[in-house]
Amino acid sequence: MGAFAAKLFNQDMTIERYACQFKTLQVEHVYLQSKFAQDKKIAQFLACLIAIVTMLVTFFDRMIIQAEFWPEIALMGRAVSVSVCVLSAVGINYVKTPPQLRIVIVSFMVFLFLSIQFMVITYERHYFLHMFFDVIVLITFYFSTLLSLKLSLLLGVSYSVFAVSVIFLNKDLTAHSFYMVVLAHVASNLAGMIMAAHEHIIRRELFVRNTQLAQLAHEMKTQALKDALTQLPNRRAFDNAYPEYQRLTQQQQGELKQVCVILADIDYFKRVNDTHGHEVGDVVLQRFSAFLTQSLRTSDDVYRFGGEEFVIVLPLCSVPDATVIINSMISRLNSEMCEVGELSLPIRASFGLTVMREEPKKSVISRADAALYQAKDAGRNQLVIKI
Ligand code: GH3
Ligand code: MG
Ligand code: MG
Repeated sequence: MGAFAAKLFNQDMTIERYACQFKTLQVEHVYLQSKFAQDKKIAQFLACLIAIVTMLVTFFDRMIIQAEFWPEIALMGRAVSVSVCVLSAVGINYVKTPPQLRIVIVSFMVFLFLSIQFMVITYERHYFLHMFFDVIVLITFYFSTLLSLKLSLLLGVSYSVFAVSVIFLNKDLTAHSFYMVVLAHVASNLAGMIMAAHEHIIRRELFVRNTQLAQLAHEMKTQALKDALTQLPNRRAFDNAYPEYQRLTQQQQGELKQVCVILADIDYFKRVNDTHGHEVGDVVLQRFSAFLTQSLRTSDDVYRFGGEEFVIVLPLCSVPDATVIINSMISRLNSEMCEVGELSLPIRASFGLTVMREEPKKSVISRADAALYQAKDAGRNQLVIKI
C-alpha cells in the first residue's frame, strides 16, 4: 500500500470546509507530508521567478525611480533581493520537514513584502506599475497554497495594510487614486483567498480519493492472495513467493540449509463430506489449517493449494529437521480428535517431502506430488521423502 495510505488506515478523513483543513490533525500532518516534496519545488520555482523578474525590472527602473535613489540605493536593493531569492531557492534543498519549509516561506514572504515596499519609496509619483506587482504577488502567493489558508490570510492582509499605509504616508495621492489602491488590495486579497480556499479543498479531496483508492487496491490484492475459508495464503500467493524461494535455493548453504517443500493432503476427506455434510468438511479444513500453522515456525509458510491439499515450505531447513517436524505433526494428528459440534472426528493426513532445486515451480510440485502419491499408496497417514 502507498506509504501515506497505510498511515491513514481507519482515520477520519473529513475536511473542515471553512478552515480548509482535515478535521483530524494526524491526517492533516500526513497530507502536508505527502505534498512536501512538491511544495519545495514550487517554492524554489517561485523564488527563481522572482529573482528573474527583479533583474528584468531593474532594466526599466531607470525610467521611474527618483533621481536621488538611482543607481546606488535602488541597485543595491535589487542586488540584495536577487541574492535572497537565489539563497532561498538553494536553501530549500536543505529543508527537511514541512514546519521548516513553512518558516522559510514566511520569512521569505516577509522579506519580499518589505523589499517591494522599499521600492515604493524610491519610485516617482506614478507607481501604479508597482501596484500591479502587489496584485500579482498576492494572488500567486495565495494560489500556491504553500501555507495554510489562515496563515496566508494573515500574511496577505497584513501586507495590504502595510502597503496601503506606506503609500498613504509617502505618496501624495488624490483621493481617487488612493481608493483605487485600496480597492486593488481588497480585491486581490478576496480573489486570492477564494482561489486558495478552493485549491486547499480540492487538493485535500484528491488526496482522500487517492488514499481510498490505494487502500482499496491493497485490500483487493490481499484478498486475491488469501483463501477465504481457511484464511491461509492461496496458490497464487505461492506463485508470487516462488522467485524468493528460488533465490534462497541459489544461496543454499550445504545440506543443512535447504528449502524443503511438503505437499500435505487430508486422508479420506471425501468421506467426511459424504458422511457429515460439506459444512462439517469446511470446519475440518479450517481446523487442519490452524493445526498446520500452529505446528510450524514463524519463518515457515503454508498455503492452501486447492481442495484439501496444502503446500508447506520450510526455508533454510535440513531434510532430517523437516522429517522431525512432519513426523511430530503426524503423531499429534494421531493422538488428537477434531471436535466439530457433537462430533469427534479422527483427522489423518499424508505428506510428500522434497527439496527445492533451481527449477520451475511445476517440477518441484510434481516431485512432492509423486512423494505424496507414494505415501497414499503405502497406506496413508505417513511421510514419504523424494529428493
Ligand atoms: P485421499 O485419501 O486419497 O486423499 O482421499 P480424499 O477423499 O481425501 O480425496 P479426494 O480427492 O477423493 O476428495 C477430496 C474432496 O475434498 C472432494 C471435495 O468435495 C472435497 N473438497 C474440496 N474442497 C472442499 C471445500 O472447500 N470444502 C469441503 N467441505 N470439501 C471440499
Ligand atoms: Mg485427500
Ligand atoms: Mg486431494
